[in-house]
Order: sequence, then structure tokens, then C-alpha cells
Amino acid sequence: MKIAMIGTGYVGLVSGVCFSDFGHDVVCVDKDPAKIDRLRAGEIPIFEPGLQDLMAKNVAAGRLTFSLDLAAAVNGADAVFIAVGTPTRRGDGHADLRYVMSAAEEIGRALTGYAVVVTKSTVPVGTNRKVAEAVRAANPAAEFDIASNPEFLREGAAIDDFMRPDRVVVGIETDRARKVLSDIYRPLFLRDFPIVFTGLESAEMIKYAANAFLATKITFINEIAALCERVGADIKSVAKGIGLDGRIGNKFLHAGPGYGGSCFPKDTKALARIGQEHAVPMQIVETVIKVNDQVKQRMLDKIVDLLDGTMNGKTVGILGVTFKPNTDDMRDAPSLTIVPALVGGGAKVRVMDPEGRREGEALLPHVRWVENAYHAAQGADVLVILTEWNEFRALDLAKLARKMATPRLADLRNIYNRDDALAAGFETYVGVGR
Ligand code: NAD
Repeated sequence: MKIAMIGTGYVGLVSGVCFSDFGHDVVCVDKDPAKIDRLRAGEIPIFEPGLQDLMAKNVAAGRLTFSLDLAAAVNGADAVFIAVGTPTRRGDGHADLRYVMSAAEEIGRALTGYAVVVTKSTVPVGTNRKVAEAVRAANPAAEFDIASNPEFLREGAAIDDFMRPDRVVVGIETDRARKVLSDIYRPLFLRDFPIVFTGLESAEMIKYAANAFLATKITFINEIAALCERVGADIKSVAKGIGLDGRIGNKFLHAGPGYGGSCFPKDTKALARIGQEHAVPMQIVETVIKVNDQVKQRMLDKIVDLLDGTMNGKTVGILGVTFKPNTDDMRDAPSLTIVPALVGGGAKVRVMDPEGRREGEALLPHVRWVENAYHAAQGADVLVILTEWNEFRALDLAKLARKMATPRLADLRNIYNRDDALAAGFETYVGVGR
């Protein structure tokens, strides 16, 4: 199969690399010349474990190339995937479809023979039909089918998720498109990973419903955590106790500083918006969005309490600013709420993140970036664990405590337990929901 992948971000690059590893011929296209230059030089512009090696392997095998030239990549392709961004549109919460629609137009102009135009970006219900209209308007003679193929990979585990997915979802309307998508995903078929073929609207809906459900699960446990703090229960035991129920499951039951990232915040907002437009308010999702904002505020309150109520002139060490470990992605990370509030309140903030600095420097001005966790603790009044990177999981707590002005720990990922922290010399330990 010949595949053109439009957009080489977290999703497009991983999908393109993995498709080439399946044995397909893949051209990855982006508008950003700097990205394409780096990719051609064998560098990946994002941090994603394992991606660089897999990319190098498939480039060497001659199955994977990178280009700025969308028309050349589309010419002769069996399938053209749209994997461009769909951020939140300013003001109304709706998904901003301008990148998707402009890619669709460009693809339309470039089509020379039959191809399936596949939307991999997360798009509101009805968008695939608009993509088809845009392709047709740009090229009324084009021979093509449309398909919706939402992506479920997680940053930080993206290759494994793509290669061993819980399921692949494909919305199609013709047997011809079904055949092309089946051929593309055949290596997964053969290994028994389920492929759900359905209609366009259902495929679009599946993606939003899945993300909204996961965001709800996280927010639910965060709300239960708040109550645990008041009644003397421990959220870790509570989560374990409920997660062992097969109907509930143990995943996504870790209390923390609220969900962030490139998907849950924007997709919950977009789903709420879709509901409003169709006069079917998504009341649960709307509440989840509100509660998640409150969770972040509650985390800030915890830190301020540990600072005895005043941020001004205090020093705070921050461990982790990316929205989760194993990624450099900072989009909608809780740190973007918490750190500026501390800086705004007059605190001196020392930040350490294994991969977040490149993105974070522009997003978190007026902080001091340091090399390791112990530097972050130096002279600090409070140390805050915001992201559960592996390298923060086995810190020498006694050494940390010795470096601090007042050894107080806000462990917003519940990595450590209170007794160990106190035994190591911390005077106060605060977790979430315990
Ligand atoms: P991203 O912002 O990292 O990458 C998008 C890329 O598309 C950019 O490199 C941009 O330069 C390029 N681009 C935009 N318009 C273009 C055009 N006309 N031609 C060529 N290139 C163009 O985005 P992402 O995180 O990869 O997300 C892409 C989509 O996948 C979004 O809809 C997102 O919701 C969805 N998604 C993301 C994840 C994730 O974990 N990041 C997971 C599942 C689904």
C-alpha cells in the first residue's frame, strides 16, 4: 500500500512510522519546513520513547520518507491520512477545523486517481462529510472515498499502543474503502486485534465518547479523593477496592492534580459543544470540565497552605511540568495553571523536568530551570511533585529534606507515603485523597 500521512505531529509521525513498519510505503508530509528538515536528518521533533529507532529502521529500508510537497505525496497514494491538529477554537470550545479543511482542499487538488481520504484527527460528528465536500469542491472529478479512523494512542506509549491496540475503529461507506483500510491494517488483523467497522458518524462519536468517559473516570476519582481527605479515608485503598471490580476496572483511578494534555481538555469541551449544538446537553461532561478546573485550584490551595498562606518571597521546587511522564507535551498541563499562579503570587519557582524544558521555557516564564530534583529542592519552602516521571519515584528523600529551607512535600501524584517522608526528615507530607 502507498500511504500519504498529512501532519507529522504526535499522531501523524507515530502512525506514519508504524505503517511503514507494517511494510507499507509511507510519505509523511508537514507544512513546517523545520520539522521536515529535522526528520530528514534522522531527528524526531518530539520526545516519544522508541520512535527514533523505529523511524531510522524504516527510512533505511526505503519505506519511509518526509516531504513538504503534499501534492507529490498524494499522487498515486492508495490512502491519504489527515493527521493535523484540531485544537480548541478560541472563545467557544468548538474544535478548530481550519487545518483539517485546508488539508482536505489541498488533497482534493492533488488527487489524480482513486484514493481513500482518511481522517485520523479527532473531529466532531459530521466533519468527515464536510471533508468529502471540500475534496469534491476542490476537484469535482476526483475519484475517492472517505473514511474516519480516529486514533487512540497515548503519548509516551504511542508505538506500543499503535502496534498492539485495544481496537482499531474505522468508519466507512463503501466496500472499496473497507478493502483499502483492511489491507492497511492487515498486520494487526492477523494478530487478532479487533477492528470495528462502522459508519462515519459512529466512528467520530466513538472517539469523543471514549475520551469523555476516561476524563470522567479521572475526575470521578479526583472528587472521591477530595472527600477521602475530609473523612479520613485513603484514596489508594479506595481506588484499589473499587478497581478490583471487573465492571469498573483498575485503570484511570489514580487521584492527582487533574487531567491535562492535548486530548482530554479539548475533546471534552468539543463534545459539550456538539451536545449544545444538537440540543442534547452533555451534562455529565460539562460538569467534568468544571470539576477538573476546580481540582487544579484545589492543588494550588494545598501548596499555599504548605507555604503558611503566603506565596510572596517563598521558594517552591517543582518536579515535573509535562502533563504526564514520558512525553515533552505541555498542552493543557496542570503545571500551566499552578506554576504561573505561584509566580504571580511572588514565589521563586525552581523547576525540573526530564523532557519538558524545551517546550516549557516559553510557556512558564520567570522560573529557574534546574538540572535535577535535588537542585529543585535547594532552599525551597515546599517541594511539589506534579508529574510522576520514573526518575522522581526513587528519590533520596532524606537528601531532599536536608536541602530544603522547610522540608515540606506536596506529592500530587501519591508516589510516596507519609510515614517514609516523615521518617526521612520531612516535617509535612501532603498527598491527594489521603
Ligand atoms: P500536532 O499539533 O502535534 O501535529 C499536527 C501537525 O500537522 C503539525 O506538525 C502541523 O505543522 C501539521 N499540519 C497542519 N496543517 C497541515 C497541512 N495542511 N499540511 C501538512 N501538515 C500540516 O497534533 P497531534 O497531537 O499529532 O494531533 C493530531 C490529531 O490527532 C488531533 O486531532 C488530536 O486530537 C488527535 N489525537 C492526538 C493524540 C495525542 O496523543 N496527541 C491522540 C489521539 C488523537
